[in-house]
Amino acid sequence: SEMILANINQLSEEYLRLSYHGMRAKYTGFNSEFETKLDENLPEIKIYNGDIGRVLLNLFNNAFYAVNSRAKTENKKEFHPKVILQTEKQNIEGKEFVKITVEDNGTGIKEEIKDKIFQPFFTTKPTGQGTGLGLSLSRDIIINGHSGTLDIESEEGKGTKFIIQLPVIQ
Ligand code: ADP
Ligand code: MG
Repeated sequence: SEMILANINQLSEEYLRLSYHGMRAKYTGFNSEFETKLDENLPEIKIYNGDIGRVLLNLFNNAFYAVNSRAKTENKKEFHPKVILQTEKQNIEGKEFVKITVEDNGTGIKEEIKDKIFQPFFTTKPTGQGTGLGLSLSRDIIINGHSGTLDIESEEGKGTKFIIQLPVIQ
């Protein structure tokens, strides 16, 4: 496949909606909203469109799964499950990056498993709900396929943030 010049705002919003509708169809009683904070001055960048799409879909699916799981254990009036997509143009030491953040207020990730989640086949989901391949594949696509970075901030019981940085190559 070939790299194409892509609008990350458009691509990421499309996959956010795809994930939302897919998860709502799959999980009875699905409960979450979403929000987008898109940088209007985001430059278009050269990417493997399908690969980045798979990464985004997995991050959104993981995020909706986490908020939906937490929603089952929280008071409905007090807890508002939400996934936030943010895009930003970044300049780090004279180099331009497109930053994509997928944030959720879901279950969060236990300290003990934080270094395991990128391993192939590692999953905490019940059989049939996850292959455990999403994050290992995502990391490969972002780092090896696009010379980018994939970082994570998470606190158990509070939520999780996945941060992608892609160098601007036009
Ligand atoms: P899968 O989704 O098939 O389980 P992934 O590689 O996408 O595989 O994720 C691996 C594991 O990382 C998940 O099973 C889950 O334990 C954890 N995880 C990933 N994203 C999140 C998130 N947003 N919130 C909480 N846990 C997460
Ligand atoms: Mg996954």
